[in-house]
Amino acid sequence: MALARDVDLQRELLRIYGYREFRPNQREVIDALLCGRDVFVVMPTGGGKTLCYQLPAVISNGFTLVISPLIALMKDQVDAARANGIRAGVLNSSLEPAERAQTLDAMAADPGSEQALDLLYVAPERFADAAFNALLQRRPPALIAIDEAHCVSEWGHDFRPDYLRLGELTARCPGVPVAAFTATATRRVQADIVERLRLRSPHVVRASFDRPNLSYRVLLKDHQSSQINAFVRERRGLPGIIYRSTRKRVEQTATALQAKGIRAAPYHAGLDEETRTRNQEQFKRDEIEVIVATIAFGMGIDKSNVRYVLHADIPKSLEGYYQESGRAGRDGEPAECVLLYGAGDVATARYFINRVSDAEQRARAARSLAEMVRYAGSTSCRRVQLLRYFGESWAGASDESCCDVCAGAVSSVDITREAQIVMSAVVRTGRRFGIGHIVDVVRGANTERIRTLGHDRIKTWGVGAELPAVHWRRVIDALLSDGLLVQTDEKYPVITLGNGAREVLSGERSAGMIAHRPARAPAVAADRAQRSIDHHNPVYGELFERLRRLRKQIADEKGVPAYIIFTDRTLSDMAERRPSTLEALAQVHGVGAAKLARYGERFLRAVTVLPSLRSE
Ligand code: ADP
Repeated sequence: MALARDVDLQRELLRIYGYREFRPNQREVIDALLCGRDVFVVMPTGGGKTLCYQLPAVISNGFTLVISPLIALMKDQVDAARANGIRAGVLNSSLEPAERAQTLDAMAADPGSEQALDLLYVAPERFADAAFNALLQRRPPALIAIDEAHCVSEWGHDFRPDYLRLGELTARCPGVPVAAFTATATRRVQADIVERLRLRSPHVVRASFDRPNLSYRVLLKDHQSSQINAFVRERRGLPGIIYRSTRKRVEQTATALQAKGIRAAPYHAGLDEETRTRNQEQFKRDEIEVIVATIAFGMGIDKSNVRYVLHADIPKSLEGYYQESGRAGRDGEPAECVLLYGAGDVATARYFINRVSDAEQRARAARSLAEMVRYAGSTSCRRVQLLRYFGESWAGASDESCCDVCAGAVSSVDITREAQIVMSAVVRTGRRFGIGHIVDVVRGANTERIRTLGHDRIKTWGVGAELPAVHWRRVIDALLSDGLLVQTDEKYPVITLGNGAREVLSGERSAGMIAHRPARAPAVAADRAQRSIDHHNPVYGELFERLRRLRKQIADEKGVPAYIIFTDRTLSDMAERRPSTLEALAQVHGVGAAKLARYGERFLRAVTVLPSLRSE
């Protein structure tokens, strides 16, 4: 590959991006590429995959071809690259003929020429185009980067048949290193990707899935509508995503928030494309603060300053939860991942799972849900649980910003007596019934079914009548979480006793269930940052707001989202350092040479205007 290996990468990092340090693994990936090796990279969202191919692209002689699955995302990627002075272009079906011709010329241009490109983004379907392939043959790229590489695998969750064509690339462009990136790959998917893309003994980098800037919390759902409203109001003005399980719930929540004067908009597959795109764009541009969405919202969003992701319904799997909540805090700044957990939701989810006709699919869905229930109902560190799911053991130190468990907001209450009642009902009814029926028995329901089965005559019938059904469902979920009860995978799943149940029944062992102390939330640094801006330092806060307004103004002039101009971290660093010269401004985190030249003067003026101190 035509790459200058002796380039001082650290200096380039500072010059292009204004960053002083590489994030973990970035340097390793870049070094491997510079040595001409294929690489396979699994790195979580926000880990900094883009820089791994952009930096080599800038210092290489020739263009880097980037394959990315979504046309909607390409524009942002190109805008973000250009904002850093990187010569980026795109080829996709949305281009006007003249633009397309111009990009093709740039692709064919001599690498040293004015019009040459550093980066060319294309969608995989481009490889079906003969003219493009011919040009690629004539002018091979210096490097090929495949984003969202898991799309090539049928084992993954976003399989795209178009990606299969990419397997030919290594043969077609021999000697060109290929870098494949994904944020989600089990080892099985990894092997599949490497094989299908025909990577040549790739250097494999699996980064930790830990997202240190995210805090995790589970809240028991009681009055969901007021809980959601209060949650959003406490975070007024901060961009957030609320996930809901159905379109109807999305609409309800969005409407309820709007009624409270919050700039919220819905996003789901039932909306027409124009509305969806508009809502997404407004969210990206910070014109609305909250997007309420089904999981249809996700892959097309690259917004880096999402400060919270609230799941108001239980996600289908821990993997899904990790990916969706991981859309918070891509910029590395503190952000919150909160799950509202209600036993009723679990029952609804189970109901839908039971209607799946394919036995294998049904069993898989039930297992995934059980993992999710275990996560929500457990009293051990949430981060440890999430990382364990990815086969990692977390060696980090727990502190109060980690999760609600580490913050001491969660404790275990003794439910041994309730457990015995439930287990006894399970045994006495012959281990042949599902959760709903067991709850009916325990609560003494007087239904025809109960009478016909004679379950009103067993000893446990009605002994739990004084507690509501939702309480018994929570007890059963807690016992399922701990494996003391087990649910079968059949179409109509029944519950039976699990390991340790006998000991609980005989009183040798106790059973517990999580309880929340709502006053003790994890000390979320996002809140702290916001508070320190607002209260502790009025001058700093005012300056930050002024910089934010300037950023928005420039973003609107350029027609790009604000975070493409500068991230919040850059603005807060700027507000803190108060640079008075361009040299000093260049020292601010995230101010590279291109941004300094383009916006430096305007930001300097905004910083150096004397703040209007409050009159008190
Ligand atoms: P990914 O594609 O892995 O989800 P991105 O490439 O979008 O993540 O990077 C996430 C954020 O982290 C971006 O705002 C990016 O500018 C920032 N970032 C990347 N590398 C660094 C670094 N070395 N130092 C500081 N910020 C970085």
